[in-house]
Amino acid sequence: MTDVHVLEDKSHFHGVWVFLEHRRQGLRDVSVQLIGEGRRISDLRNTVLTGVLLGNRVDVLATYALGYGLDRVIVVDDPLLEIYRSRPYAQVMAQLIRRHKPEIVLYGASKNGRDLGGRLHAILETGLAADCVKFDIDAEGNLDMIRPSFGGKSLAHILCKKHRPQMASVRRNVFIAPPHDPSRTGEVVHESVELGPSDVDATLVDFQEFVREGGLRPEEADVVVSGGYGLRDPKAFAMLQELADLLGGAIAASRKAVDSGWVPKMLQVGQTGMTVRPKLYLAVGISGAVQHLAGMQESKKIVVINIDPKAPLFEIADYGIVGDLFEVVPEMIGQLKVLKAGASGARTAVPAAAH
Ligand SMILES: Cc1cc2nc3c(=O)[nH]c(=O)nc-3n(C[C@H](O)[C@H](O)[C@H](O)COP(=O)(O)OP(=O)(O)OC[C@H]3O[C@@H](n4cnc5c(N)ncnc54)[C@H](O)[C@@H]3O)c2cc1C
Repeated sequence: MTDVHVLEDKSHFHGVWVFLEHRRQGLRDVSVQLIGEGRRISDLRNTVLTGVLLGNRVDVLATYALGYGLDRVIVVDDPLLEIYRSRPYAQVMAQLIRRHKPEIVLYGASKNGRDLGGRLHAILETGLAADCVKFDIDAEGNLDMIRPSFGGKSLAHILCKKHRPQMASVRRNVFIAPPHDPSRTGEVVHESVELGPSDVDATLVDFQEFVREGGLRPEEADVVVSGGYGLRDPKAFAMLQELADLLGGAIAASRKAVDSGWVPKMLQVGQTGMTVRPKLYLAVGISGAVQHLAGMQESKKIVVINIDPKAPLFEIADYGIVGDLFEVVPEMIGQLKVLKAGASGARTAVPAAAH
């Protein structure tokens, strides 16, 4: 085994790679978003941006991925790579990285991306900065990997100065997806990598996709109605769901609401939950702790309903309603129903003091 970081001078490493995750012949959102950020970083480094696509019969997807801004896509096509499995994916990626020596590798901080990055940093003996929210290039050309620290109260700048590649993961919705340009061309390179039975650590018996009840996921919704500890009771989330349904959106929650057992963890927004960037984020009974902000502050419009005019979330709100959520939300629901019914003379203002 070759320890690239020990034997190789770091000047031998070139290019930015994005590990491309896919499902049902489509790229995962986080991978597309990473292509956009990878493009920016590779332009700053004046180097080539490569997507790495492992799978079974993924050629069409490789060509399509170029349209998001990649210069080339490395494809490893093998039936053993049909679905993500830790050992074969880590084995293939390690071989490719040793062969091509990229200076930077970016992963989505999805379940699979976290698993893969974590394994690879151990195999390749290099660093991995998890859950980065920003990147920069320092004066020496190192990737400045910026992530929240101290419970989200500060940002840490992580540099991997001695080892290569520099590796980082990023959660979904931290970066904006670039537009797809079907006329963009690039190279699709097929690589073969040795894979044997010993590289397969799990046998696929059956594949059943988990379908979340209640439809729309907060990460995908244009409107997110998010509830906090101010709701006092899990039953109050039914009221938020009704409001979200009327707005064609999804519900989400603060960690305190999740920790209270009112809603499942998969609805948590924030530093230790998901990041959302909806067109409208309606925060109901949420104070605005910095860890919550980390997951929603990039929303296009933020509307806050809180009984306390000093609640910190008002500071980043586009519209604030100071009032009791148990009065404001039913009033909103009532008015939306009237509007939906197309009744003339519908009241349009929420009768709570504007902040
Ligand atoms: C390492 C770490 C990671 C964390 N990660 C996350 C994370 O990912 N996401 C997250 O959300 N938090 C996270 N937290 C927790 C965070 O610090 C806060 O504790 C949490 O966000 C508070 O949730 P909340 O706003 O719902 O509750 P509170 O802070 O208790 O706020 C409740 C709000 O409801 C208002 N209210 C009460 N009654 C009413 C009413 N009748 N009408 C209107 N308003 C009312 C109150 O005025 C108050 O502002 C993390 C903390 C740490 C240390």
